[in-house]
Amino acid sequence: MKIGREDFEALIKGEKTIAPYIELDCLAGSYSVFGVRTAGNPNYLIRAIYEMYEANLNKKLAIKAVRKLFRSVGQGSVGLNNLLKKLGMDLTPSEFLVLVFRLQHQQGWGAPFELVEAGEKRIVLRTKHTFESEVLKDWNMPVCGIHQGWIEGVLKAVTGKTWFCLEKTCHAKGDEYCEFVCDQVEPSWKFKAEAVVKGESAITEFIEHKPLEGKIQLIDEPVVMMPRFIFTSMTTSLKKTMGEAPASGVNYRAYMDMGKENVEHYKKMGITNPRTLSDMAFTFYSQMGWFNVIKEEWDEGTKTKMITLSHTVESESFGSTGKNVCFCTAGLLAGIIEGSFGIRVQAKEIKCKSKGDEHCVFTITNKPS
Ligand SMILES: [Zn+2]
Ligand SMILES: [Zn+2]
Repeated sequence: MKIGREDFEALIKGEKTIAPYIELDCLAGSYSVFGVRTAGNPNYLIRAIYEMYEANLNKKLAIKAVRKLFRSVGQGSVGLNNLLKKLGMDLTPSEFLVLVFRLQHQQGWGAPFELVEAGEKRIVLRTKHTFESEVLKDWNMPVCGIHQGWIEGVLKAVTGKTWFCLEKTCHAKGDEYCEFVCDQVEPSWKFKAEAVVKGESAITEFIEHKPLEGKIQLIDEPVVMMPRFIFTSMTTSLKKTMGEAPASGVNYRAYMDMGKENVEHYKKMGITNPRTLSDMAFTFYSQMGWFNVIKEEWDEGTKTKMITLSHTVESESFGSTGKNVCFCTAGLLAGIIEGSFGIRVQAKEIKCKSKGDEHCVFTITNKPS
């Protein structure tokens, strides 16, 4: 059944529903609306998507991953937007958003939104609940990543600009409404990198992996994946050519320079706060699999910073050796702190997993100039 301008106008006014446009052929296993194949919204699929991400992330980050996935779904609405334009209908972004969700809602998907605010750079929508807030009620937190991503994608599709959608209140958390505040933002890595440090994003959101082209980028910076045994392999090779002590010194120095350069790269993103710079580097290296930060302590008496790490890349790579092995990691920590705070420091590993300690512990002290 063909749909025309009058039909859309009637749908927008609420005088009509999509019922006449639904074609359900159970034997053929096809269900379409306006000639586009669609499907119901099985609750178990929604839960499965969230739980797939939750298996490797915490709940908060899993919701962000779902949101990213549904951004691409929202971008698909560009087709509907073009059709409306062809029909001579010029809707504002917020009117279009409400229409998209009305059509989806009548198919058992999206939420029936009401507009709270419709500005040029800010749109606020709310609904009593969404399907994900019902399915994931037991998470007891704002869970509507599907709608957040979907809204962001729709707004990007019709405005060509980047939008950031925040769920202020959520039915799954016990609030009266799921309320979404959407702001048009300048796409900025600074903003994204800071979200990683705050634990609101994981670096997986910003990895662009093109395996068939042999390329990986992390926040616009080319990166490579390496096998972890490169640490034993390189160190063994250095030891053979120059002896153990000089090899450790070379590793320390090389990774210190790398840590410093890495911080310089963050500074180019516009990040200037020293604490943010060092937190960012620790968080990024941790999320890249180099180590996990157990704790950081400060001893005022000796002016010493102590950093405790679990599973450093070197201790894992070397295994049990009876001595300290984390010279690269020590250098990296020193480089990060020197680069971030503009001071000169010395990092020393005082406990090591490879030596039989529970964790690797490093002291950072000022280097007398
Ligand atoms: Zn919600
Ligand atoms: Zn160690």
